[in-house]
Amino acid sequence: MNFFEFDEKLKKYDRLSLERTKSVFEDIEQIEEYNQTKVLNAFIEERVSETDFAGSTGYGYGDIGRDKLDRICAKVFGAEDALIRHTFASGTHTLSVALFGILRPGDKVLVLTGTPYDTIQGVFGNAGESDGSLNDFGVSYEQVDLLPDGTPDLNAIRSRLSWGEYKMAYIQRSRGYSLRKSLTVEEIKALCDAVKEVSPATVIMVDNCYGEFTQKTEPVAVGADIIAGSLIKNPGGGIAPCGGYIAGKKKYIEKCAYRMTCAGVGREVGATLGHNRELYMGLFAAPRVTASALKTAVYSAALFELLGFETTPKYTEKRGDIIQCIKLKNSERLIAFCRGMQSGAPVDSFVVPEPADMPGYDDKVIMAAGAFTLGSSIELSADAPLRDPYAVWMQGGLDFYSAKTGVLLAVSQMIKSGNLELR
Ligand SMILES: *Cc1c(COP(=O)(O)O)cnc(C)c1O
Repeated sequence: MNFFEFDEKLKKYDRLSLERTKSVFEDIEQIEEYNQTKVLNAFIEERVSETDFAGSTGYGYGDIGRDKLDRICAKVFGAEDALIRHTFASGTHTLSVALFGILRPGDKVLVLTGTPYDTIQGVFGNAGESDGSLNDFGVSYEQVDLLPDGTPDLNAIRSRLSWGEYKMAYIQRSRGYSLRKSLTVEEIKALCDAVKEVSPATVIMVDNCYGEFTQKTEPVAVGADIIAGSLIKNPGGGIAPCGGYIAGKKKYIEKCAYRMTCAGVGREVGATLGHNRELYMGLFAAPRVTASALKTAVYSAALFELLGFETTPKYTEKRGDIIQCIKLKNSERLIAFCRGMQSGAPVDSFVVPEPADMPGYDDKVIMAAGAFTLGSSIELSADAPLRDPYAVWMQGGLDFYSAKTGVLLAVSQMIKSGNLELR
């Protein structure tokens, strides 16, 4: 039984893409196996049991399930300590708690990876605005731009660190929605080594969003002092309904806990309201779901390369996150892509995406997102501003076969709308 009718030529490209990606998929499965056993081992060592899922109300004092999940999260990320909570409202909120937790008036932050993604810029803030940003509290911001090829400028970083006193060096692992490359853990190590060599007292923080479980190690293992990320991306496994995590050195996690609730109280409070089970299940599912998302990205790169489009990263390239960028070269194709992908979503498949104005963007933006969790980008989704090079940023896939169907429907829609001809 064929549930979806695809063009015969497209089926040929599908098979060819699967053949080409075989060895990359094997590498992804090795990473998945390693990370899945790492997570399982942490669950066993911490003796997870039904009672941990009970949750708490009110102050949430003595919530053993919450505290145990913190220890599991720390173990999984190779960290001394961690906070994993549904009460972090978004990834940016989580990063903000970590930044405000560690930084003090007069401190300087040096961003090592060029201009960071849009929403965090409001947290760093603009000079002179009374907006509650870090800048408003006297924390100043500097950045080292990326080299023209989109990689960090190690020489500039070393020299900047040698003439300034920086409390924190900040690294963004994922490309976010830019054309720069994502950083692998090995590249993050090179950055950490450079910081420690020139300025050993500087705290290294990594925005780990979209990077979790894409490799066998996490940034903490190669020198990062603190990492943070969102639970509606990789580490929530598509099950956590919201939240975030912070992991790293114990002394910094304590400061973050004081910022998360309040000074002197920290992690002692925070009712979990019955969300423990979803956070446990999500973390347990995360290595497998991240592997599905990686396969979807690699497959899509291979397919669109065969169809003659430029992709970044290429299907053969080493990955540090789950984002796939495809340059579709005109707006009609971009719109068709998003509409086709939306038509293959398990939720809201009947919705037709339209380009629309978005706060923070000069151009119209079109999105495809049919997810169980609103805004979840570990579920198959795509975003594209309508501007040259008409690139779409896609990510996620709770399982590979449904996500692959979404991608094939995107191509089908490009064909049906007269924007692509297959040879
Ligand atoms: C998604 C993302 C975040 C977190 O964003 P939220 O939308 O606030 O959850 C942080 N950094 C990068 C690079 C991201 O892509």
